Amino acid sequence: MRKAADELTTYLGCPRKYEFKHVLELTGETQQNRDAFRKLLREVICTGYNTARQTDREPRKGAHEALESLWKSYVETADHHSRRQESTEKARAEAGLEAYFETVGPTHLDGIERAAELCERPVVGPDLTLSTTIQETQVSVTVDYIMAHGGSLVAVRLTDQLWASRVPYASDSEIAQEHLEQGLYAPQKVGTVIGARIAEQALGEYVADGTGTELMYLSVLEETFETDGDCEAVTDQQRMGEFLTESRQTIDDAIVWMAENIAAGNYDPVDVFDEQSHWDGSFEQVVENSCQYCPYAVGCQEAIRREVMFNV
Ligand code: SF4
Repeated sequence: MRKAADELTTYLGCPRKYEFKHVLELTGETQQNRDAFRKLLREVICTGYNTARQTDREPRKGAHEALESLWKSYVETADHHSRRQESTEKARAEAGLEAYFETVGPTHLDGIERAAELCERPVVGPDLTLSTTIQETQVSVTVDYIMAHGGSLVAVRLTDQLWASRVPYASDSEIAQEHLEQGLYAPQKVGTVIGARIAEQALGEYVADGTGTELMYLSVLEETFETDGDCEAVTDQQRMGEFLTESRQTIDDAIVWMAENIAAGNYDPVDVFDEQSHWDGSFEQVVENSCQYCPYAVGCQEAIRREVMFNV
């Protein structure tokens, strides 16, 4: 069965969490508003590009129109506690769109047009699936659009925040080896590298030898509010190719290791992290870094067992 980069990232963080989320399909204490807001931004930006391609209008205009038409249904989905929160969020969305189209809008539209010619497949999502096979393991990653950029074919994943703790900094160039071979615990950052590896390989199907392929994370919002309700937004982007330079084999081996564990139904984090040799860390690191923020902690036997040990 095909495994998505998001699923593998969850397994890397905690196999039990993977079981709760992807096998038992429990909801947990979700970040429903946050997920809905991110989805809204992806949708309006992609609609802006699709409109521009079909009608020759400015993508920024199409995106703002899409925001107006989708806003009512978004408000019904989201759990706002006041009108003030609702209008604040609208200001965030508008500022995010302005910042995004000001910074990359027309450039990326040109790149999208060139990618459409090259790939002969839909290149604007939101939520396009790129699939490939790595060491006989079927994997996929979700991106929002594909563009030609310089000499490369680049898949872009949009997000609504600067990914400070999730997407690696340039100084984290060996993050995959540090997590998988040296016992550091950074599953979210390594998860973005796994996504980058899958995108790189999947995009290779559309290009001739010598053309690079890459994943880029692009943040479109920063929550800087003025007291009068104005919102300042910025963009930030991280191209992920540099994180693969030394780590392709390490990432590929980790994908296979996780896929084999998942296929065997092995979700016991103590077994996976303390008994198996692939990762040099321990379950203690999961407890220290993940359990207190975990949406499944209330029903998790490992978390409950640790609480009744009273060893704080
Ligand atoms: S509470 Fe801890 S052990 Fe349980 S699923 Fe969450 S991260 Fe894993």
